[in-house]
Amino acid sequence: MGYRVTILGSGTSYGVPVIGCDCAVCQSSDSRDRRRRTAALISSGETRLLIDVGPDFREQALTFGISKLDGVLLTHTHADHLHGLDDLRAVTLRSRKELPFYGSGENLEFVRKHFSYIFKDDDFSLGWGIPRLSLVPIGDEPFKVGDIMVQPVPLCHGRWNATGYRVGSFAYLADCSGIPESSFQLLEGVDTVVIDALHWREHPTHLSFGQALALNDRLGARRMVLTHLTHEISHREDSAKLPSFAELAYDGLEIEFS
Ligand SMILES: [Zn+2]
Ligand SMILES: [Zn+2]
Ligand SMILES: [Zn+2]
Repeated sequence: MGYRVTILGSGTSYGVPVIGCDCAVCQSSDSRDRRRRTAALISSGETRLLIDVGPDFREQALTFGISKLDGVLLTHTHADHLHGLDDLRAVTLRSRKELPFYGSGENLEFVRKHFSYIFKDDDFSLGWGIPRLSLVPIGDEPFKVGDIMVQPVPLCHGRWNATGYRVGSFAYLADCSGIPESSFQLLEGVDTVVIDALHWREHPTHLSFGQALALNDRLGARRMVLTHLTHEISHREDSAKLPSFAELAYDGLEIEFS
């Protein structure tokens, strides 16, 4: 079966360019140096799954023609991955259906609490003026959305937990500062990995380029795509410094997998 993942955003929480910054990357005319907040879309042709709904979701949906979704996979609840949530109402208004919203129990509890206006049982007056979501807690077991089987992959993200997702030979691992030992078996035989790596310097809650690349000694992926990039990274200059199995994500990058 053939799938496609589209990188909707490859930037760190500030996005690139950073507001007010006049560094070379923020001023770059290379479109690959313009990075919306990190998110992706997995499609089987029949089923479309959004990974994360950050503050750039509306622009990503307009740019990449996303008006219909079959599910949302939440990695974690940081603002750069979640605070476009309200804009999902355009999707559920069109479909007139509840949109399944998957995440760990802990992360979905956060969503329920911080977006309480969406989940008030007693308030029908808002109608379709709010995103109609059905929260679906996931554990470590695989689950099916439409014709896509999804395997959650627990990740460390500094002092938080995040959930990566594997579909077939592809894995999406963001945000993360490390992969717990028990998750490596879930990633066995993976061919293509999109993984959180901020920049070359180390950081307490994200992988550095060096750390992400070193993880491939164990993952053995044919193709590793670094995402969640900061304005310290120039697509053209830093791409040239990577080993042959690795490359930089950019907004609009499409990867086919099986
Ligand atoms: Zn992030
Ligand atoms: Zn800058
Ligand atoms: Zn994060």
